[in-house]
Amino acid sequence: MSNPYLLLTPGPLSTTATVKEAMQTDWCTWDHEYKSIVEQIRQQLLEVGCTSKEHYTTVFMQGSGTFGVEATLGSVIPNDGKLLVIINGAYGRRMEEIAKVLRIPHVSLSFEANAPVDSRAVEKKLIEDASITHVAMVHCETTTGILNPLEAVMEVIKRNDRIAIIDAMSSFGGIPIAVEELEIDFIISSANKCIQGVPGFSFVLCRRDELMKCKGRARSLSLDLYDQWETMERDSGKWRFTSPTHVVHAFKQALLELAEEGGVAARHERYRNNQRIVVEGMTEAGFTAYLPRELQSPFITTFLYPKHISFTFEHFYTFLKSAGFVIYPGKLTDIDVFRIGNMGDVHAEDMERLNTHLLRYVGESHYEN
Ligand SMILES: *Cc1c(COP(=O)(O)O)cnc(C)c1O
Repeated sequence: MSNPYLLLTPGPLSTTATVKEAMQTDWCTWDHEYKSIVEQIRQQLLEVGCTSKEHYTTVFMQGSGTFGVEATLGSVIPNDGKLLVIINGAYGRRMEEIAKVLRIPHVSLSFEANAPVDSRAVEKKLIEDASITHVAMVHCETTTGILNPLEAVMEVIKRNDRIAIIDAMSSFGGIPIAVEELEIDFIISSANKCIQGVPGFSFVLCRRDELMKCKGRARSLSLDLYDQWETMERDSGKWRFTSPTHVVHAFKQALLELAEEGGVAARHERYRNNQRIVVEGMTEAGFTAYLPRELQSPFITTFLYPKHISFTFEHFYTFLKSAGFVIYPGKLTDIDVFRIGNMGDVHAEDMERLNTHLLRYVGESHYEN
């Protein structure tokens, strides 16, 4: 069965037919064959993150990406600790909300949505406030598509001896991240983003020595990162509660296809090329990107509502949907924008096909004026 449209969104994404086919069987969660698949993908994720088995371990968490973020924040920061949340978009703000709801002691450092996180400002904050123990930042802020300077911020966090929690939801697997070399303590992503699986669980690569300190810290029973890890280790691949068995099989297939594509570097190149084609096509059609090129991640692009044609998002969306593409509304409160994603099983020829429809749209909209 073919898809009615391609998803040009921040996730879930279009997946391959073979990833979807991997979900056609029902599996037993405690059977050793199933558990050995869980163990295998835990190991493969360590490789995707360039980490050693000796120093890092993978923990899965049922639910969407936010469940992984909430599990990590809620399990890692002790009651006498203090979290610094760095914010330049909706996902940074969501981490702040989680800290509020879970009553985790925290402070925030905010930047404009079109400004990358400034590592010097982070350092100033860490020096000023010695009670901060942990720092949380989003790598690619999917709100706008801005790519935050992970290396520079990690350097500052480590130089000032703090624990780092990185939401790399929309970047992990789509851009090389040397997790161990950068000394990231906890990095979070989910099954349905750049690995190109289907929604159903999130995963956290954790520094073993830091995770070992988290026993009994969790503010939730089901979102207890340490407890989930302990069960997975003790019972080699068992999840504490019902695991998304079909999603795990799809994910196994997705990781195989990531390797077949040539790994993270090759996928990054494909996404970059996709993104370049979209921006060129949109520019030719008279649209303007919200961010300057150098701040832009290769995953999703925000565009301003155009002024050269009569425009409503609804109309544009419906037109593109009938042409076989689904795009995404904006997530900025002060400015009218929409987003076009280019991750998932989408390729240069799809992007070029999109561009011909864009030109047709603009042509017809002019005519209507
Ligand atoms: C997708 C995403 C999440 C998680 O969103 P869910 O809807 O819970 O899957 C978190 N952070 C970022 C940066 C994301 O792109």
